[in-house]
Amino acid sequence: MLDAGNLTRTASGRKARPKTLCLRYEGLPRYHSSANPRSTAFKTFDRSAAIIVGSQGARFLVHKELFARQSPFFAAALNGAFAEGVSQAVHLPDVEAKTFEHVVLWMYTGRLERDPFFYKDGKPTYFTLLDIYALADQLCVEGLRNAVVDKIAALAETTNSVPTPTDTFILYEAMRHNAPVRRLILDVFAFKKTDNIVATHPDDWHPTFLRDLVCKLKRPGWAALRRHELRAWRPLSWQGTKACEICKAVLKPGASGSQCAGCNRAFCAGCVGKGMGSCSLDWAVAERECKPWLRGMCEYHEHEETEKCPPEAE
Ligand SMILES: [Zn+2]
Ligand SMILES: [Zn+2]
Ligand SMILES: [Zn+2]
Repeated sequence: MLDAGNLTRTASGRKARPKTLCLRYEGLPRYHSSANPRSTAFKTFDRSAAIIVGSQGARFLVHKELFARQSPFFAAALNGAFAEGVSQAVHLPDVEAKTFEHVVLWMYTGRLERDPFFYKDGKPTYFTLLDIYALADQLCVEGLRNAVVDKIAALAETTNSVPTPTDTFILYEAMRHNAPVRRLILDVFAFKKTDNIVATHPDDWHPTFLRDLVCKLKRPGWAALRRHELRAWRPLSWQGTKACEICKAVLKPGASGSQCAGCNRAFCAGCVGKGMGSCSLDWAVAERECKPWLRGMCEYHEHEETEKCPPEAE
């Protein structure tokens, strides 16, 4: 049975965060890092910086190069003509220290906490991951954002669960509107059988989340097409042919069509060309196979500052 993630979270986590902290959109030169920014950052490791976090002023003394290299935000704050460049201290009063710790872990090790950290009472704590994503967005740490969407997809799959209504408030109030993590979570709700949980959960879902989900589901043909990994395909003989999944017409030998690399279903060129207007979203199929996030996570990544995923990892 489909489950919702863990609900327990502090009320403060739900507050909207300032979205203007990230300097990426304000004419900053695009930042390039090497494939493994940590390996080179250690060569020039002679300066530290203090990052003062949260209302209590928790102080993190970090290696300046390591942070500047992996985050255009810290590069600007620590190297630029900012007042903060002089004192080598960055103040982040609106950031929670317990979330910032995950950024520090990522900067030094390139990994997230181990899986058990993201569970409570046997359920995934999606809110923790969404908080980390939102902060990684503010601080322009792209690699961390990509690692978080990977983790969310893996948890949703291994535990057959989806984020809670409260989580959708983080998703729609603490994130920029085009953050790929929104797309992932909408896909998870669209391609898992979530009608019951959406209908019966006692808490309210974020209204914009519901609107986006309705829009996605109102285009069932489009959603059904996207679910499959279509490759050009031509049946060689009558024995080897198949009927089109949508119009049920048998593909003639030699006729050009498409086949899904995941489920091997066939689609005629006509139906694919029409954009699957007549195709319906089949929950039974969606539950078992052909979920976009199983095919490859890179469509939910961003690679402006990090190296693209190699094809074999997709
Ligand atoms: Zn398929
Ligand atoms: Zn067809
Ligand atoms: Zn990628």
